Amino acid sequence: MKPAAFDYCRPASIDEAAAALASSDSAKVLAGGQSLVPSMNFRISQPSLLVDIRDVEGLDGLEVDQDGVSIGASVTQSRVMNSDEAYSAVPGLRRALRFVGHLQIRNRGTVCGSLAHADPAAELPALAMAAGARLTVRGPQGERTAAADGFYLGPYWTGLEQSEIITGVCFPAEAPGTVTVVDEIARRSGDFAVVGLAAAFDLEDGSVGGARLVSFGVSGRPQRLAAAEEAVRGFHAGAAGDGLYGAAYEDAADAVGDIHASGEYRREALGSLLVRTARAVSASNGGKAGAR
Ligand SMILES: Cc1cc2nc3c(=O)[nH]c(=O)nc-3n(C[C@H](O)[C@H](O)[C@H](O)COP(=O)(O)OP(=O)(O)OC[C@H]3O[C@@H](n4cnc5c(N)ncnc54)[C@H](O)[C@@H]3O)c2cc1C
Repeated sequence: MKPAAFDYCRPASIDEAAAALASSDSAKVLAGGQSLVPSMNFRISQPSLLVDIRDVEGLDGLEVDQDGVSIGASVTQSRVMNSDEAYSAVPGLRRALRFVGHLQIRNRGTVCGSLAHADPAAELPALAMAAGARLTVRGPQGERTAAADGFYLGPYWTGLEQSEIITGVCFPAEAPGTVTVVDEIARRSGDFAVVGLAAAFDLEDGSVGGARLVSFGVSGRPQRLAAAEEAVRGFHAGAAGDGLYGAAYEDAADAVGDIHASGEYRREALGSLLVRTARAVSASNGGKAGAR
């Protein structure tokens, strides 16, 4: 199918972009177009105006310093994935991005576009929650920052107002002793996850001292696993995984069923994925080599 008729603008400044977005209730930001354009072709989305942000000055920065990795709204997923500096500061970024679609999609798709789109099966929103990332948002009232944890409200639904633009995101540098991993089960390489886990483990002498655990592809949004975060404390490579498995299973009580898998499958697979991941990370004793 072809999209419904729409207007298009390509502003050069964030002020112009914000004004264009505020000019219509159904205007939308166009970033890489890898999710928006297919949804327009299927007429799931029918924006009256596309505000293309690729030429907006100041949104193409990829900066790495001791605080972490700051990624502007027009920075592609490939650019971040290929940056060795970004990998050494926040290894989870490359670990998540290798699962995102295929090369051609990552070459156009943006990190911030994925965070804004909020597909419940997407890797980056879950990673952003596990890693404690903060988004910078520009709207008619000015600029604000928002923690990724708390930003995701439901399927394709965030705390972003229609007239707001994510101008960038900052992933804090991974602390010494922390290992951030992303793993998933998908039908084929490059497909969205059927079940996924983003996790930041704090290791102490080969045991897990604490963790931020976030599922994706399981329920209607990326979700912190509160019971599993308690159960994983003290976990080590030789520990029985039953308690941890059971906690993740309970956390995933609202797992959804669809044509790819039942809710019950997702609950069981999440528990297994978590135990497997916690074992591998504990066995690596804080070394990055064992981290997936
Ligand atoms: C075949 C295929 C496979 C894919 N597989 C995966 C996968 O496995 N995992 C995965 O996570 N993704 C996958 N994707 C999606 C891909 O990662 C997209 O690039 C991403 O979800 C959206 O990024 P984008 O820059 O293309 O955004 P766009 O498609 O341009 O926009 C998506 C939505 O976000 C809004 N938006 C974009 N940027 C901003 C911003 N800065 N501020 C406010 N709103 C904004 C748009 O208005 C729109 O509503 C796949 C896509 C395809 C086509």
